[in-house]
Formats: sequence, structure tokens, C-alpha cells
Amino acid sequence: MKFIVKGSSPQIFEDWKENCRVINEPRWDMFQNPEKESVKEALLLDQGYICCYCGLRIENDPSTEIEHIKPKVECTGTDEQKAMDYDNFLASCNGSQKEPKPRITHCNNFRQNKHLVITPLNEKCESVFLYTSKGITISKDSTESIKKLIEEVLNLNATKIKNKREEILLALENDFATKSEEEVKEEIHALSQKINDRFKEMCFVSINFLQNTFL
Ligand SMILES: [Zn+2]
Repeated sequence: MKFIVKGSSPQIFEDWKENCRVINEPRWDMFQNPEKESVKEALLLDQGYICCYCGLRIENDPSTEIEHIKPKVECTGTDEQKAMDYDNFLASCNGSQKEPKPRITHCNNFRQNKHLVITPLNEKCESVFLYTSKGITISKDSTESIKKLIEEVLNLNATKIKNKREEILLALENDFATKSEEEVKEEIHALSQKINDRFKEMCFVSINFLQNTFL
């Protein structure tokens, strides 16, 4: 999970909601393109085109999903408009939902409506995890709620994402074993930057691993 600094909601989306309100409050089932595409694009720019949970590359296409921090089903009563609130949105990968069966889902599709004990909008979210060189995500302080988040809420050790992390981290382990502290810091700095609006896939995993292994 990477800390996300959210930008502002696209004007086209806010204008569309205002227009809806002439007749009725805007609802999720009314939300379509071009507004939906604009919202996805804004979320992707906020996130550097990586999934809000696992960090896999995502693009502005139908396989990228708009995820609700507060689940849609809980957006009722005074919270009704949270279902259509940009600040409640994140962009998630489709959690391997389209992979051939038997598939192991993760991220948005595994989570469904479960509660998030920490979200990507919390600046501490990156520091509660550790990653082994085998690509396994663990709770840094063995906290039960974070273990539950990893295993039962987001399934962050699902095969596809675990294998991808392993591939990235084994390469880093080999590359940086003989490098200086300065070089490790330079790499961390580089991984912290977007290039052409994009973070490197799973950059926060690499940063966390380099910090905890070599510094
Ligand atoms: Zn994901």
C-alpha cells in the first residue's frame, strides 16, 4: 500500500453531479462516461498509475476499477453522497478477477465491503508493512489488525502479486548487495519520483525493502 496524496475532483464530474441535482441526487448507477473516464484519469494521476493496494500497473481502461474507501453499501443516510464523493474514491486493479480459473483474487475484488483498518490516504500506511525477499507481505509489528488486512481483507499475498514482488525484490537484493549506502539512497530517491506521471510498479515495496535491508 502506497500513501496517496489526492488532488481535486475533476470539474466535469462535479458539474455533472450539479446537473443531476436539478432533478435528483446523483447515484452510482447513473455514473458513466465521459465523467467516469475523467474520474479514473484523475485518480490514476494521483496514484502514478499503480493500484491503490498492490501497486500493480493500472491504466485508464475498463479493467481498472473505482474503489470506495467507505463501501458503497455503507453510504446511506447522511453519508449517502460519499458513494459519489471523489475523496472516497481510489483506483484499484481488478484483483486478477479476469484470470483463468482457478484464480485467487485480491485488492478491490477480494475486499468487497470489508473495513480497512488503515487506508492509502493515511501517511503511515507504508510503514506498517514489511516485505520479504520471497515477496511476502507481513505486518511490521505483528499487529493482528494489519495481519487481518493483509490476509482477510485485501489478500495481499495472492500468488500473482506475491510472485511479482518476489521478482522485483530478488533483483534488488542482487543488485544492491555490493552497493554503497549512498547508492541505495539514490535509488530510493529515484523510486520516490513519478516519471511521465507514473510511479514504477510496486515502487513502495522496493523502497521499503531497500530501507529495511540495506540502511
Ligand atoms: Zn491491486
